[in-house]
Amino acid sequence: MKEQLLLGAEAVAVAAIDAGISGVYAYPGTPSTEITEYIQKSKEARERKVRCRWSANEKTAYEAALGMSYAGKRSMVCMKHVGLNVAADAFINSAITGINGGMVVVVADDPSMHSSQNEQDTRVYGKFAFLPLMEPSNQQEVYESVQYAFEMSETVKLPVLLRVTTRLSHSRAIVKRTEIKAQNALNPDTDKRKWILLPAIARMRYSNLLSAQSELVKLSESSKFNRVVEGTGSKGVIAFGIAFNYVMEVKQTQNLDIPVLKVSQYPLPEKQIKEFIDKYDEILIAEEGYPVYEEFLRGFSDNKKLRGRLDGTLPRMGELSPDAMAKALGVAGIQPKAIPSVVVSRPPELCKGCSHRDLFEELNAVLSGYEQKHVFGDIGCYTLGALKPYEAINTCVDMGASVTMAKGAADAGLHPAVAVIGDSTFTHSGITGLLDCVNDKSAVTIIISDNSTTAMTGGQDSAGTNKLFDICKGIGVDEKHIRTLIPLKSNLEENIAALKEEFEYQGVSVILATRECVQVAARNKKAKK
Ligand code: SF4
Repeated sequence: MKEQLLLGAEAVAVAAIDAGISGVYAYPGTPSTEITEYIQKSKEARERKVRCRWSANEKTAYEAALGMSYAGKRSMVCMKHVGLNVAADAFINSAITGINGGMVVVVADDPSMHSSQNEQDTRVYGKFAFLPLMEPSNQQEVYESVQYAFEMSETVKLPVLLRVTTRLSHSRAIVKRTEIKAQNALNPDTDKRKWILLPAIARMRYSNLLSAQSELVKLSESSKFNRVVEGTGSKGVIAFGIAFNYVMEVKQTQNLDIPVLKVSQYPLPEKQIKEFIDKYDEILIAEEGYPVYEEFLRGFSDNKKLRGRLDGTLPRMGELSPDAMAKALGVAGIQPKAIPSVVVSRPPELCKGCSHRDLFEELNAVLSGYEQKHVFGDIGCYTLGALKPYEAINTCVDMGASVTMAKGAADAGLHPAVAVIGDSTFTHSGITGLLDCVNDKSAVTIIISDNSTTAMTGGQDSAGTNKLFDICKGIGVDEKHIRTLIPLKSNLEENIAALKEEFEYQGVSVILATRECVQVAARNKKAKK
């Protein structure tokens, strides 16, 4: 049995290769990016011709993975938690169609919002879609859960969700691998009554999905991933996913003899949970993310036995920690080691020499001549333009929202209505907003800061590289108002003049601010040596 030191994210990748996947589909997003990157670099994946390029967004990734499953092969789709909002349409409907080849949906949640707009909990989506979900508590279990999830997916004919959180995805441990499995043969599903969601068929499929729930609960009841760690005393803990690790760390370091029910497979093992709750006088519910199952188990009657995030026994927000867990269990926390002085908290900033710096300088210079100085921003490195010294953007809501918010503000009479969006974010979700602007002839200026990469997540390919002019022209932007500029100090005056002209244009204009990300440029140069 091979052993490897792996990040949790890498353990997902290795497990999927060993489970015989034929394709992984994803859009980069912290903390899920390393899954696809590992498969892209894997010799084993290459030898088996596993499809692994980046997709334009999470919805296209999800649908392609579903298509591969339709063809009978095993597929995986990966994203960060907010990416599931983008893929939600396909995700919810795939629970109705079901699958053919095994399909695993990996979603990496980011409690504490280390690099995200919110800390939503994917387990809510699992319940919402009535799909089975795995929530492993350590790297070895990540590996085993992925393999189990592929088998389960083909048994129950449904996609299976795998939820990991930042700390698990980004920490390393030894993982034992099993033998690599053969890939499925091409075997397209011929059952049209399953895949065509006309209302009559969809109603039948939905009824099947609801009927399958009791079977899914039975699987959870007998799952090796849901088990009791025995202990004495009148107080017990129900620990979900990675929260189990925090509980066990405190239990072991403080010699606590408490019983713990570990839950890593959903839907909930109802009988097991009921028996556990009945047995003890007080139960701590330890879950990372929303108090999803605490709320569920408390119900409307507000079960007085239960403690957790709702009554403040554990903090309502953010990641859990051994210290928070120790306090909740009534013992002193583990004294953290002193933080070395080099590890000081540093506010994030744009890299020295980044093209966004020059762009924001130009933008601020132009806007200083206007009464209205509102710029709609988006998700990417350029979001840092909201901070000092630039303070050049006013909004950052979700992928693509800069374009559509600028449009709405222009419709309301705001002038100039300016959006700043990156090249990768533009192809992810900005294109359709630009089409709305063109159709409405809105007076907007969309600045696409094109650094030929998806910089914020580490420099992955961008779907629009070398195609942005043609895309904008093809959508219907007048080519006289698609201007290319190179944001460099030496071009300052020229660029300011171009921006001023387009701000004054009473229609749709696009500025392509084009200069390669300096980090990617340095990496490429080194690779060529
Ligand atoms: S990674 Fe690239 S795009 Fe991001 S701040 Fe640094 S230079 Fe700019």
